[in-house]
Amino acid sequence: MAEEKNWKTKYFDSLKQLEDAETTWYKLEKLLRKAVSRLAITAKGIDQRLDDVLQKIQHSSRNQDDASLETHLEELAHTLTLLDTPAPATTSNALDEPLHAPAEQVHDHHQILHLIERLHLDSDYQSRIDALRQSIQQMDSDQCLDSLAQILNDMQTCEVKDPESVRLLLVSLVEKIALAHGNSEPLSQIQSRLEKEPGPQDWDGVLDDILAEIQRMIQGINEEKVEMESLIVDVTRQLNEISEVLTDEQSDTDEGREDVRQLKQLMDHSVEQIRHSVTQENDIARLKSHIEENLGSIKSGVEQFVARDRERYDKAEHRNLKLKQQIQAMERESDELQKKLIENRQKLMYDTLTGVRSRLSYDEILEQELQRFERYQEPFSFAILDIDFFKRVNDRYGHNAGDKALQVVARMMLRHLRKTDFLFRIGGEEFVMILPKTALANAQPLVEKIRGSVGEASFHFKQEKVDITLSAGLTEIAKEDNAESVYERADQALYQAKEGGRNQLVTLAS
Ligand code: GH3
Ligand code: MG
Ligand code: MG
Repeated sequence: MAEEKNWKTKYFDSLKQLEDAETTWYKLEKLLRKAVSRLAITAKGIDQRLDDVLQKIQHSSRNQDDASLETHLEELAHTLTLLDTPAPATTSNALDEPLHAPAEQVHDHHQILHLIERLHLDSDYQSRIDALRQSIQQMDSDQCLDSLAQILNDMQTCEVKDPESVRLLLVSLVEKIALAHGNSEPLSQIQSRLEKEPGPQDWDGVLDDILAEIQRMIQGINEEKVEMESLIVDVTRQLNEISEVLTDEQSDTDEGREDVRQLKQLMDHSVEQIRHSVTQENDIARLKSHIEENLGSIKSGVEQFVARDRERYDKAEHRNLKLKQQIQAMERESDELQKKLIENRQKLMYDTLTGVRSRLSYDEILEQELQRFERYQEPFSFAILDIDFFKRVNDRYGHNAGDKALQVVARMMLRHLRKTDFLFRIGGEEFVMILPKTALANAQPLVEKIRGSVGEASFHFKQEKVDITLSAGLTEIAKEDNAESVYERADQALYQAKEGGRNQLVTLAS
């Protein structure tokens, strides 16, 4: 039952990880679509030609038709450049109605002002729009549109295409995938590419690769699902067979009862016949023949009954044998499934790259230690250790070298820990240590020793020496703590260590 629960937990956790990845992806896409549709709504009603294109854009966007969306966006760019020329006479533009001044310049200004009125932007952009509105009369329409385009462009670049924030979003998405499903070669390659700070022109490729990895994850989950389903089908089939056997058994028993009833009936009848003959028959020879006749039918009835009973017995024995074999097969399958579930759980509990405990295990063990503390009041220490400037290691020596460094650092940390201590990799280059029954005063020299030994070790990649140091934040559990507060305090200490120049340990008591 417990394993079943773990299997399910693992299954739903995988789905959750997947949902997280999809959510991040959809956020990006939604942002882009939002920008397009906001532009469409904002500019609607200014010019019939513009309206037509905007309608097409909204239609493509709504139908997620990216190919035509691209074409229509180009059309929009072209139409915007044509806006200086008056619209054809057929235009039934609501904006024309209050407009009586014939001068084209005024007409343009009015359109631009109208467009500006419709913009409700964040304060930064709004103040630039307000400034533009103030000086609009001193500008010609070209200048006016240029300024407006600039503001919109800045806004779109910032909100939608800020390369750094998108890059960081993608980095964290890829990290999440790696932590949840283990590092794969394609994932490492994507990470390397993201570290090279790709520009918007590279996004398509990177996003395609991330999508492919997400699809691989989905496929993995689906395969597990199919496996599980086929197992359920198999078990159901076997249970059905057992149920059929039991029904046979029952019907045999019913048949047996009927045979007994018939035999009894036959015997009663024959005995009655004999009694009748004894009282009625005067001729000894005929009486003898009557008795023999009835005894004969009793004998054949009993023989038939015995034969049928033996047949039933043989059938029952055969059924029992079959049942036994089936139960044994089911036991074997159940053992295998249990083994597989334990293996899967083990896999999820440990980080594939470094072999130390995983984020999933962290949540479980921390909860367990918090409960132990609440019950026995024995304090434990909690430390976060983060590799300094790890991004540079990746940048200079490549992602594989970074991976290798993570493995070596994890091994060095483990070497200093007791069997009862816990080491987790909870983020890219971030480790947590939980040291049960260890007060701050004892944990401090231990963490310091680990920091020192990593800092002094000489790492080499391709004959080149690489300096790797750790910053650490350490704290001790306090009465009022929960999982979040103890982490936050250690994180605050870590922050101070980073601020203080890195390669150091900061201790924070509660
Ligand atoms: P700081 O001293 O402030 O911690 O700087 P930092 O560069 O270590 O920190 P930052 O959070 O900016 O960068 C962490 C880097 O760790 C970025 C990411 O590429 C890298 N990273 C995360 N996970 C992995 C991994 O599994 N393998 C490798 N090679 N690098 C990873
Ligand atoms: Mg770091
Ligand atoms: Mg970090």
